[in-house]
Amino acid sequence: MSKQKTAVITGAGQGIGKGIAKRLADDGFAVVLSDINEEVLNSTIDEFKEQNIRVASFVGNVANPEDQKALVRTAVDHFGSVDVFINNAGIEQVSPILDIQPSDLEKLFQVNVFGVVYGIQAAAEQMKKQENGGKIINACSIAGHQSFTMLGAYCATKFAVRSLTQTAAQELAKYKITVNAYCPGIVGTSMWDRIDTAMVKYMGLQKGEAFKKFAEGIALGRTQEPEDVAKFVSYLASSDSDYMTGQSVIIDGGIVFN
Ligand code: NAD
Repeated sequence: MSKQKTAVITGAGQGIGKGIAKRLADDGFAVVLSDINEEVLNSTIDEFKEQNIRVASFVGNVANPEDQKALVRTAVDHFGSVDVFINNAGIEQVSPILDIQPSDLEKLFQVNVFGVVYGIQAAAEQMKKQENGGKIINACSIAGHQSFTMLGAYCATKFAVRSLTQTAAQELAKYKITVNAYCPGIVGTSMWDRIDTAMVKYMGLQKGEAFKKFAEGIALGRTQEPEDVAKFVSYLASSDSDYMTGQSVIIDGGIVFN
């Protein structure tokens, strides 16, 4: 890389976002990590600094458009540009459709859908100013291609992310901004710990059994690590993906086949 590029990653305090941030730092990016959870964010920032990674941090809520703008400003203030913006932050909700509560639905859509819109807007405004294109990358899921029982509202938010990825790609192509999404399968993060805890309650199973049950259907025979996702996001963030836009690509070890 001639001039060091900057990648911003939301929900990067732990899990998939942290894995992506580490991989992009290894690829040569300066990285800006954001999370609503200050504690996990600070601990990851300390870890990255110990590894001499060029990193900045921002505590914020993706569902707040002002926070998204401030995140972009933080990146520009520290490193001069935003070249890659990853809308990774997301939350889950487990419930049969008949039990979904309005407050859960609102929170889920605010973070997973509104948050992605505000992230795309904040990133694209900056990238347009830079006149050098850019890459916006969204966290979708296999749940954005196929719906699963007890995850109805979550799946609806991920279908929405796939839709937003397609529209943003078409509208932003004239600025040489590409918009794509990664669609993981079953990644052993704190999100899946919570999904498992909620599901086993409904299904009358023991802790860990819902995760195991889902994992049994994976063709490649193992659940996913954040690094498996990060390897693909590394491609999406690189110039190798310059001719690709509007796609939400499944990387799940073989669960959903499209
Ligand atoms: P995680 O819960 O382990 O980590 C998510 C991080 O996002 C947390 O640090 C959390 O504090 C942060 N966050 C939550 N709400 C936020 C908000 N409003 N603003 C800013 N940060 C916020 O989750 P994960 O498993 O790493 O998932 C990351 C993304 O990947 C999510 O969008 C998720 O839907 C998607 N995904 C996960 C899986 C999986 O199996 N874990 C599969 C497919 C897609």
